[in-house]
Amino acid sequence: MATIRSIDPTTGAELAAFEEDTDEVVEQKLYAAAAAVDALEAAGWDLRADWMRATADLLDSETEQVAAMITAEMGKPLAQAKAEVAKSAYAMRFYADKARDFLTGAELADPSVVSASGARTEFDPLGVVLAVMPWNFPIWQVVRFAAPALMAGNVGILKHASNVPQSALYLGELFTRGGFPEGAFSTLLIGSRRVEAVIRDPRVAAVTLTGSEGAGRSIAATAGDVLKKAVLELGGSDPFIVMPSAKLDDAVEIAVKARTSNNGQACINAKRFIVHTDIYDEFAEKFAARMAALTIGDPVEAGTEIGPLATESGRRDIEELVDDARDKGADILTGGGRPADTEGWFYQPTVIAGITDQMRLFAEEAFGPVASLYRVDSLEAALEIANDSDFGLGSAFWSTDQAEIDQAVRRIEAGAVFVNGMTISYPELPFGGIKHSGYGRELSAEGIREFCNLKTVWVA
Ligand code: NDP
Repeated sequence: MATIRSIDPTTGAELAAFEEDTDEVVEQKLYAAAAAVDALEAAGWDLRADWMRATADLLDSETEQVAAMITAEMGKPLAQAKAEVAKSAYAMRFYADKARDFLTGAELADPSVVSASGARTEFDPLGVVLAVMPWNFPIWQVVRFAAPALMAGNVGILKHASNVPQSALYLGELFTRGGFPEGAFSTLLIGSRRVEAVIRDPRVAAVTLTGSEGAGRSIAATAGDVLKKAVLELGGSDPFIVMPSAKLDDAVEIAVKARTSNNGQACINAKRFIVHTDIYDEFAEKFAARMAALTIGDPVEAGTEIGPLATESGRRDIEELVDDARDKGADILTGGGRPADTEGWFYQPTVIAGITDQMRLFAEEAFGPVASLYRVDSLEAALEIANDSDFGLGSAFWSTDQAEIDQAVRRIEAGAVFVNGMTISYPELPFGGIKHSGYGRELSAEGIREFCNLKTVWVA
């Protein structure tokens, strides 16, 4: 079996190494998962909610340790890791409080029309759901799936990204420590090549992925082949449009945050900044200056705003994208390389103008702190560039003109439009994309229903 390594991206040092689960161990975990299905459903809403709240309390009480582990494994600034832990505990409590309401079926109107004495809907859990998750929010991405799934009565099996095994193992224990039955949520320590067999296993009912387009194609193909439900949250190259009536300084401030939070490695980071020519020069100057002033350094240090990229290959991808644009004539307004005096996988916050459709940055997702700037002379041109992408995850639109806002909300091809703000995921709001950003929704009522059977009940 291969070795799964936890490597500190700030130094390149190995923190821990684990042997992959053998086939026998995977079999034991699948057996335990299938065996937990009945127990979890039979427990009922109140008990599941008690366990979920106890899990949230546990996570809260371990914030320091968990945040340090996140930062050590993938390099985000420690304050952001703590915020991730707090948000995860919040989401657990949110679903402990709301799951029952979200999954209370409805009496259907006028039974006489459907020849019944009564007709209604119910939501049944599907059973064991496999979650294939990424490293960028090692706790939050998993909890975003697990909290609603377990509250609905589903069992979760996690296959986490191979560079965050410590987070994976922590999560594999967390829910049972909170009171959930053995097997209700567990971690498979396996590489991606072994995912297909798990999806095909008859005990697994469905699969959810948060990850890249390539992983999405592969998982969707397998799930399609065995006709199992799949939810896909894939990449994004979110547009951030700024019109002349926008409050410019606010837009600049939020643009920096929207591009660089999580060291620029979030699917919903704004990546393409599309700015009206009337304010373009001022925006570009202020944005580049603010990006250049960000503090790069050890993510454990209190003042650090940008830590390293999570993996060496991730930095190589970013370098290749920027070098390609530079070679084809783009203007690097700031950044464009590795910062001096750093040994880990750091990359400077970078702003690039003059992007053409011949450059890879035009079409590909930049998973690091690299912003592409586009100058446009009308709303029409802004929307055209915004939609000229295979992705359709989040988006931001800055304007104070209501007619413009209405048009943008209607015409931007994305799973979300945030007006005069930045795309953020909230437990209360549905989250997901269209086009190559995937399908299905997470969070809110829509998210918890994805892994339920909406059953129609008709009584003579
Ligand atoms: P990957 O797709 O490489 O990895 C994500 C997960 O999928 C990992 O657990 C990985 O396992 C697994 N995986 C990879 N390839 C396959 C495959 N062929 N079959 C089955 N499983 C597979 O993504 P990255 O690590 O590069 O993460 C960044 C990507 O994820 C970006 O494109 C980003 O936009 C997207 N993302 C989307 C989000 C969303 O909510 N829509 C949120 C965060 C990220 P292993 O590590 O073992 O290879």
